Amino acid sequence: MLQEEPFNRYSRYLKKKYGQPVYRVGIDAGFSCPNRGKDRGKPGCTYCGEDGSRAPYLGTEQNLKKQIDGTIAFLKDRYSSHIYILYFQAFSSTFAPVLYLKHIYDYSLSLAPFRELIVATRPDCLDRKKAELLAGYKNMGLDVWVELGLESGHNRTLTLINRGHGAEQFVKAFNLLKEFDIKVTVHVIFGLPGENWHDIQKTVKSIASLRPDGVKIHNLNIPEDTVMYNEFLMGEFTAPVDLRHMDYTIRALEMLPPETIIMRLTTDTKREKLASPGYFMQKAKFYSLIINEMKKRKSYQGKRFLS
Ligand code: SF4
Repeated sequence: MLQEEPFNRYSRYLKKKYGQPVYRVGIDAGFSCPNRGKDRGKPGCTYCGEDGSRAPYLGTEQNLKKQIDGTIAFLKDRYSSHIYILYFQAFSSTFAPVLYLKHIYDYSLSLAPFRELIVATRPDCLDRKKAELLAGYKNMGLDVWVELGLESGHNRTLTLINRGHGAEQFVKAFNLLKEFDIKVTVHVIFGLPGENWHDIQKTVKSIASLRPDGVKIHNLNIPEDTVMYNEFLMGEFTAPVDLRHMDYTIRALEMLPPETIIMRLTTDTKREKLASPGYFMQKAKFYSLIINEMKKRKSYQGKRFLS
């Protein structure tokens, strides 16, 4: 456990590993997603907006060199940065034939001296050849991570939110990546329709049993350009506000293995698109709140982890 913080925070993990702050260069390589199709021919997950899972800080620029050069120039100027991680973030970044993926990964990695490669994807966009390709980048001295969306461990919820895969498919993809010794970060969403703490607890328990390298926790956000927004308008459910999310998160952190790196605790959605929650405190304030509350509760990551 890192000193002074009750959970294993990603930024501190990186700082400890490299001796200085490390920055992710998030790019949109133009991949699509099998659950929504190239031109949104399918509905996709009910919480998926027009932007897919592209973070608000990413532009629409499709030119990889321009994106990478632009982000690095910005980071250098603002933070005097030196160390970078290449992060394929938007949509499903293994959703293409393996030769094309190789071309895109190779080219992008050649544009800057990256130290790590992170690829975000879905369980149904991985197979043995893709895992082998990703594992091959470790031979270049890179740490290789795959971010894999589970969101909920309950198939009834996955059906309700139209994830397009089941919990079993997630476990299969997870195990495949571990077979190739690839680091895996699991995404989970707290506050999905029909789920209370009892359901979330079961999901967290199943994630903890896999002992993932990283976890990203999201609070449910409902943007206006989603199917879920219409369900929300019908009053079928609410998105957790900060205090409810804080409580879920602390209890979840206690259940996770102490060594798992906590890479995120909240969701980023462009303010102007967000219908609910109406108010959620700023990220830095939320982190302070969690840390203070955990100290008050004598809580820490792994406290209730059953190995
Ligand atoms: S997997 Fe991601 S990009 Fe695909 S439909 Fe779901 S949220 Fe959208």
